[in-house]
Amino acid sequence: MNDKLRSETWDVAIIGGGPAGLSAAITLKKAGINNIVVLDRENEAGGVPRHCGHPPFGIREFGRILTGPAYAKRIAETARQLNIEIALQSSVTSLKPEGKLSILRPEGEIELQAKRVLIATGTRETPRSARFVSGGRPLGICNTGALQAMVYLKNTIPFKRPVVIGTEIVSFSALFTCKRAGIKPVALLEEESKASVFWPIQYSAGILGVSLYRQTGIVEILGKERVTGVRVSDGNGQERLIECDGVLFTGKFVPEAGLVHMSHLKSDPATGAPILDQYGRCSDKAYYAAGNIIKNPVKVAGTCWQNGKIAATKIEKDLAGQLD
Ligand SMILES: Cc1cc2nc3c(=O)[nH]c(=O)nc-3n(C[C@H](O)[C@H](O)[C@H](O)COP(=O)(O)OP(=O)(O)OC[C@H]3O[C@@H](n4cnc5c(N)ncnc54)[C@H](O)[C@@H]3O)c2cc1C
Repeated sequence: MNDKLRSETWDVAIIGGGPAGLSAAITLKKAGINNIVVLDRENEAGGVPRHCGHPPFGIREFGRILTGPAYAKRIAETARQLNIEIALQSSVTSLKPEGKLSILRPEGEIELQAKRVLIATGTRETPRSARFVSGGRPLGICNTGALQAMVYLKNTIPFKRPVVIGTEIVSFSALFTCKRAGIKPVALLEEESKASVFWPIQYSAGILGVSLYRQTGIVEILGKERVTGVRVSDGNGQERLIECDGVLFTGKFVPEAGLVHMSHLKSDPATGAPILDQYGRCSDKAYYAAGNIIKNPVKVAGTCWQNGKIAATKIEKDLAGQLD
């Protein structure tokens, strides 16, 4: 694979084999552009839905309701049936002018050249380190993405009685993951006076037996080896302790844009996402971006799928010299 990756000048290299990247690859292939490679750092293609073991996915794309893993499998298989080259365990480490990429593979680092590159690296939740919560680094602290990967892909759990921070839609997805894994969260904390989700959804916390504390923020994580509790503060500055064995930070999504930030491409200082023109092109016209990396706030898989398709049609025109 290394020799092939290196020797070809690819028409299009797509970074990220999630819904946006795969939909772009499928659209390009169906339009007759054969020389495409999808690069993903994971062992399997499919993106975030691979570890979202719940519905609903796929309504817009396949007209039916699928779980995340079934959806991820289906989109990856669709790409494979079209003989699209998918290079797994391939972490793109730098973006260079005019479509040159550095890639780290198990065998070592290689460089690849593409006429056009689509960046579809998605988003990630804000980790504990960027939330300025004091305390040590005991075991039992993670994000929803990590929890779901452990539960659905590795069949293990990081804690049994965590405190869950945040009330975005993903926070409730995390509560359902906990239920499925036999984890019993002791509290759901929201700093604001209202939950972030549309109101009926917040009641699912009560249905799952988890108390929602509004106007309550986490101040400190306690514990040396493993989390033993958290110190929280309410809107009046009143502090108290909650005993728990883990902390689950949810939501506050930010674009997975480290690559863009380190590159020559112009990015939005507020979000880190690449700045695009009306065609979805970056400041270096060899580069495009699509999917959740450019969606703020983050969108569902069907929207990213659609967005990947639109980017592919622009790239197709561009390669044919039909884009202004
Ligand atoms: C917990 C959770 C629950 C969700 N539930 C739902 C739901 O029920 N229904 C729904 O429709 N949507 C849901 N979503 C949203 C949905 O998962 C996203 O909208 C969708 O996955 C975004 O697609 P994407 O292609 O933009 O990015 P992603 O799916 O994030 O894919 C990005 C890909 O890029 C790869 N990548 C990143 N950086 C690099 C690099 N440097 N080199 C190589 N590869 C790289 C990653 O490995 C990944 O495979 C959920 C999301 C989360 C986090």
